[in-house]
Amino acid sequence: MWAAEPAPSCRGGAADGAGTGRRGGMAGGGCAPPRLDGFVLTERLGTGTYATVYKAYSKRNTREVVAVKCVSKRSLNRASVENLLTEIEILKTIRHPHIVELKDFQWDSDHIYLIMEFCAGGDLSRFIRMRRILPEKVARIFLQQLACALKFLHDHNISHLDLKPQNILLSTPENPQLKLADFGFAQYMSPWDEKHVLRGSPLYMAPEMVCCQQYDARVDLWSVGVILYEALFGRPPFASRSFAELEEKIRSERAIELPSRPPLSPECRDLLQRLLERDPLKRISFEEFFAHPFVDMEHVPGPESFCKATNLVVEAVKKDQEGDASAALSLYCKALEYFVPALHYESDARRKEAIRAKRWPRTSHGSALHWRWPLWLWQGWGLLQEEEGKDDGDTLELYQQSLGELLLLLAAEPAGRRRELLHAEIQTLMARAEYLKDQIKMREAQSMGKEALADSVRSSCTLQ
Ligand code: ADP
Ligand code: MG
Repeated sequence: MWAAEPAPSCRGGAADGAGTGRRGGMAGGGCAPPRLDGFVLTERLGTGTYATVYKAYSKRNTREVVAVKCVSKRSLNRASVENLLTEIEILKTIRHPHIVELKDFQWDSDHIYLIMEFCAGGDLSRFIRMRRILPEKVARIFLQQLACALKFLHDHNISHLDLKPQNILLSTPENPQLKLADFGFAQYMSPWDEKHVLRGSPLYMAPEMVCCQQYDARVDLWSVGVILYEALFGRPPFASRSFAELEEKIRSERAIELPSRPPLSPECRDLLQRLLERDPLKRISFEEFFAHPFVDMEHVPGPESFCKATNLVVEAVKKDQEGDASAALSLYCKALEYFVPALHYESDARRKEAIRAKRWPRTSHGSALHWRWPLWLWQGWGLLQEEEGKDDGDTLELYQQSLGELLLLLAAEPAGRRRELLHAEIQTLMARAEYLKDQIKMREAQSMGKEALADSVRSSCTLQ
């Protein structure tokens, strides 16, 4: 069925592609980097399923740093190299903030060399391994960035077919932006080689890809589910101690069970369950995925987040001045939903501080909104603090204080639209407070050595 592939004979280098037992095209033979016109190749960045990637400098004045991926032509089974070269031409035209830029390519008799944007933050597999698990809010930001890249590819009719943390790169170690790599080639490379041995990682492949060998773009959605699962629980759902165990897990018809710890928001659990649906016909569709509340593509941190937020505040002030309190409140709340991603997006510390210190507009005395200020402030600052990674205990206290005030307001508020709005806000705050409490409890348990995930085999299986 499938077999572990021999580890490449030469290892080392900065980022080891998280791969053990992978097939690496040792371009140029042995360990020495190959020679390439116009570039000086230096350290090996990683070895994947089909290629070895080197860091390189351009010999031109710019001395630009790039990554050069050396693909052995021999790995292109049953595929026309010419077709692949045409495809690469198309990929060269793709520009997206969350897709690794393909700058150029060259080829010789044995290899194709892809000259790419260099990603100094390594790959997502290493990022997760170093932190063991990612908090839900960090995983969510990565997921949103991945969804943006996939939406762009989907709109251009391109499937990835080999999504896994090793193919997801990070721009820089600080404030890392996700960059999807290694797409568009998988269609030329069957996951099965001539000897019917599966190459690549069955841990991330949709069951239909491994079992039926008949699959379509929906396998990418399964892989997104596996990546999200690994980010949150520290290991992929089919992590196994042996090939027999792995095969059993892939072939089984049991629904994928989500561990109860760490606690996740209901939206996150719902998305995971719908992505990790074995039957591709029942799996969440691309449209449903992009529209899912946990993905929430509208609020992905981006250059336009801050502008959208301030525009909404301007509109809110106008509505407030016109006496339309309910419209003003809903606009303020919408604005906050953009301020939080705007803070995340901003990498410059001074500009970040300026956003945080932004004074919310004052209402005139006696304005219809006067009773809503505590709500706006408490919720706003609570959320911002939480998002900024400050102490969860402080944030919880803030929520609790806020809830106390709001419950008093609710009691005094007569029935009607305003009461409904206030009630809805209180429920949101209560849910957030519960979530934070859970997080704090879990962290306490961890520090006392009772950490719930300790017995889980974290990628003990080296099937990559
Ligand atoms: P393959 O097609 O053989 O799987 P990949 O493109 O996935 O090759 O690259 C293998 C590894 O090399 C990645 O997992 C990553 O660690 C490293 N790598 C690839 N591209 C880059 C890049 N542009 N910048 C930095 N590291 C990279
Ligand atoms: Mg790869």
